[in-house]
Amino acid sequence: MTTARNILNSVFGYPDFRGKQADIITHLADGNDCLVLMPTGGGKSLCYQIPALMREGVAVVVSPLISLMQNQVAALNEVGVHAAVLNSSLPHEEAQQVEQKLLSSEYDLLYVAPERLLTWRFLDLISRIPLALFAIDEAHCVSQWGHDFRPEYSQLSVLHERFPNVPRIALTATADPVTRQEIIERLALHEAKVFVSSFDRPNIRYHIIDKLNSKQQLLMFVQTEHSGDAGIVYCLARKKVDEITEWLNSHGIRALPYHAGMSLHQRASNQETFLREDDVVMVATIAFGMGIDKPDVRFVAHLDMPKSIEAYYQETGRAGRDGLKANAWMAYGLNDVIQQRRMIEESDAQQQFKQVATQKLESMLAYCETITCRRMYLLRYLGETIVPEYCGNCDICLNPPKTWDATVEVQKALSCVYRTGQQFGVGYLIDVLRGNCTARVKYWNHDQISTFGIGRDLPVKTWRAVFRQIIARGLLTTDSEGYGALWFTETSRSVLKEQQRIFLRQLGVNDRFFQSMEPVGESSFSAAEQQLWEQLRAWRAKTALEHGVPAYVIFHDTTLKELVHVCPQTVEELSRITGIGAHKLDRYGAHLISILHRG
Ligand code: ADP
Ligand code: ZN
Repeated sequence: MTTARNILNSVFGYPDFRGKQADIITHLADGNDCLVLMPTGGGKSLCYQIPALMREGVAVVVSPLISLMQNQVAALNEVGVHAAVLNSSLPHEEAQQVEQKLLSSEYDLLYVAPERLLTWRFLDLISRIPLALFAIDEAHCVSQWGHDFRPEYSQLSVLHERFPNVPRIALTATADPVTRQEIIERLALHEAKVFVSSFDRPNIRYHIIDKLNSKQQLLMFVQTEHSGDAGIVYCLARKKVDEITEWLNSHGIRALPYHAGMSLHQRASNQETFLREDDVVMVATIAFGMGIDKPDVRFVAHLDMPKSIEAYYQETGRAGRDGLKANAWMAYGLNDVIQQRRMIEESDAQQQFKQVATQKLESMLAYCETITCRRMYLLRYLGETIVPEYCGNCDICLNPPKTWDATVEVQKALSCVYRTGQQFGVGYLIDVLRGNCTARVKYWNHDQISTFGIGRDLPVKTWRAVFRQIIARGLLTTDSEGYGALWFTETSRSVLKEQQRIFLRQLGVNDRFFQSMEPVGESSFSAAEQQLWEQLRAWRAKTALEHGVPAYVIFHDTTLKELVHVCPQTVEELSRITGIGAHKLDRYGAHLISILHRG
C-alpha cells in the first residue's frame, strides 16, 4: 500500500502534513469514522482525498454546492487523480457516462450533491461497487440553528444504516460545541473520533474601524492596501450591494455584485469570474461564500456587522486560505447596533430563537467594542483554552485604543433619555444634549428640561460613539417599532444609582490606517524577480484559460513565489517546490524551466 506521505509528496507536491492531517488520514484509512473540526484553509480536503487513494474503491464526497465541487474536481484532475462530479446540472448523457465509469471503478473520488446521493437510484448504484469512504463536507449544514441549514443533510444518517462498514468522515469549519453535538447526533457519529484543530488563523489581521463615511473608508482601504487584489465586501442589503459595486467600479476597482435578488445565471457567472480571475472584488450579501475555496482572497471587508461571531469568523475566514497575509476589515457604527437589535425584535421567530439570537449578538457587540486582543477574544469564544493575550496582528495589539472616563457623559446621556420620557432616538437625544433648539425640540418643550444643552462641549460624532457603546453594553435598549427610540434596562438604573465608573473607547484613534501590509508578491521582489513573477503569472493565466480552470488550480501564488525565490534550473530542483507533484512536473516542468532560464 502506498503510504500517505508518498501520496502527499508525489501527487500533491507538498513536503509535509499540516496540523492533524497525518493522524486523521491514518485513522480514516484504517477504516474508522471521524469528525474533523478545522478552520477554513486548514487543509480539510486532503484528509479524505489521500485516504481515497489509499483505500480500495471509490470515495463518495457529499458537498452542498455544485460549482465548487466542479473546482475541486478540476484541481484533482490537474494533479492526475481520477475524480468526477455527479449532480443535477449535468446533461443526461454525461451523467450516464459518469455512472458507467463509476460502475467500472474508474474513479477514486466522486462528488455528489446531497439530494442526488439520497435518491433510491443512486444508493442502489453505489451498493454495487466497492466504496472507499464517505466524506461529508460542510457538515454544519445539518445544524438547524446555523445559517447554512440544508434539510437533506439531516437525512445523511442513511449512509451509516445502509453501508455500516464504510468509514465516514464529516468535516466543518464551524467550531462551536452546540453545532458539533448536532452533527454527531444527526449523522449518527457517536462512535467517531473527534479531531479538533486550533481555529487560529495567524495570517489574518483583524481590524475594526469606527464607521464614519463607510463608502469612502472602504475605498481608502482597498486603494491603499489591496490594489489589484481579490477580495470580498459584505453588506446587509441588496440595494447597498449594488450601490457599493458601482462606487468601487467608478473608482477604478473591478467589482461585481452578488445577492439573492439577481438571476441564478448572473450570480453563477459573477462567482465564476471571481474564482477564475485574480483581481476581482465581490460585493455581496451573506448569500455568497459557502464553500468558496479560492485560496488567494486577500481581504474580507464588512460594511455591516454580522449577527454572530460564528458568521463573522466564517466570512472573514474566506480570506488568506493560502496562508499568505490577509486582512479582515470592518467598519462598525451606531446603526449596526440599533439595526441588529431591531431585526431580532421584529422577527416573528419563537422566543427561544430570539434568546439565542440575542446572546449571539451580545457576543458580537462585545467583540466590536473590546479593548483587548481580538484574536484572543475570538479563540476564547470558539472554546479554545490556550490563547495568546497579545497576537501582534490585530488592530488592538498594533495600536492599542485609548479609553477615557466617560462616567459623567454616560450619566448625562441616560438622564436625557429619562427626562424625555424614553421615547426618542439617538439623533433627537443628541439635539437636546447639545442644546440644539429644533422645531421638534420646541414642540416637546424639551428646551425647558434640565438636560437641555448639558452636552454642548462634545461634538455630535462623539455623542454618537457614546450612545453606540452604551447600547452595545446593554445600558439602553431600542424599540421594535422602527423609530429607534431608546429606553432603560435593568443595568441602566443601577449604573445611575450606584454611580459606577464607566470607561469608553476614545473615538478616532483607530481610524487611521496603519502599518500597510506587505503586498502578496510584488514589493518584496527585486526588479528582475518582479519581472519573472509577472511572466509566471501571465503563463499561469494563459494555461488556466486553455484548461478552462481557475488560475489557482494550475499553481497557487505560494508556488509561484517559491519559484521566483528559488529559481530552480533542473527538473530535479523543480520537483522540490511546494505544490509541484509528479503530474504537474510532467505536464509543466519543461515549460517552467524555459521561463526560469530566461528569467
Ligand atoms: P479547507 O477545506 O480546510 O478550507 P483546503 O483543503 O482547501 O482547506 O486547503 C487549503 C489550502 O491549503 C489548499 O490550497 C491546499 O492545497 C493547501 N494545503 C492543504 N494541506 C497542505 C499541506 N500539507 N501542505 C501544503 N499545502 C496544503
Ligand atoms: Zn491581537
